[in-house]
Amino acid sequence: MEIKVLEKDDKNMRLWIKGVDVPYVNALRRVIISEVPCMAIDEVVMLENSSIMQDETIAHRLGLVPLKTDLDSYNLPEDCKCQSEFGCNLCRVTLILDVEAKEGTRSVYSGELVSENKEVTPVSDTIPIAKLAKEQKLRLEAYARLGKGKNHAKWQPVSMCAYKYFPKIQISSKHCDSCGKCVDICPRKVLAKTGDKIEVKDLVACTLCQDCVEACSQDPKAIQVGWEENTFIFSLESSGALKPDRILKEAVRILDRQLKEFEGQIKVKKSEES
Ligand code: SF4
Ligand code: SF4
Ligand SMILES: [Zn+2]
Repeated sequence: MEIKVLEKDDKNMRLWIKGVDVPYVNALRRVIISEVPCMAIDEVVMLENSSIMQDETIAHRLGLVPLKTDLDSYNLPEDCKCQSEFGCNLCRVTLILDVEAKEGTRSVYSGELVSENKEVTPVSDTIPIAKLAKEQKLRLEAYARLGKGKNHAKWQPVSMCAYKYFPKIQISSKHCDSCGKCVDICPRKVLAKTGDKIEVKDLVACTLCQDCVEACSQDPKAIQVGWEENTFIFSLESSGALKPDRILKEAVRILDRQLKEFEGQIKVKKSEES
């Protein structure tokens, strides 16, 4: 397998991957979405709520606030030694919200949640949670835990994870009359006309939509769009809970472990049969 990083920042990562097949990249995508754990608020103890919003609605909104995750310091509740329903310092983080609209109507934002661990705080401070009229109060304790996307979408560490085949565009200089229709119709500005020549200027942006091929009036078509076998562009966008490269490393580790378990089960079955 060959991998090149095409783009990478704090939230996004785009890779060129060659030498794997669809089942592998799709398994990687599914593990990222459903198996890589991250922190989310899972339980709320409402101490006072005089806003017009129901306790359940506020709890639901809190659950969907992405939290920065410290994967190395916390255990999944099911793997924690405490085995307690309430949790312990190794599998639970407490966040407190204590606000009152003293001056007049005001909004309550995610940034007002006070966490007992400075490493586990909302990814953004400006997510609205509730609106309070004058003298209304909201006091609560929220408990965040590690969890997996397969149990609830709030535990998905990504807002997007997808792959596509790596495009391959061929332009025949013999049949192309440089009319430029393919350049004009391309929604991703993949093609450009330089003098009398049509050139591919941003191959990675191509979505394989085939609009350029349909627009070409030559017979046979002067442009062909296909893809390279076993070569993919793999993109992921983190919710901010974890860095994109950490998400990918965790996914590879989990997939590797699952494959080993699967292999072990096949061996056990075979030895039972023989
Ligand atoms: S297939 Fe679609 S995206 Fe790709 S070059 Fe043609 S028009 Fe553009
Ligand atoms: S539409 Fe066809 S003929 Fe016109 S520039 Fe594109 S490839 Fe060439
Ligand atoms: Zn615990």
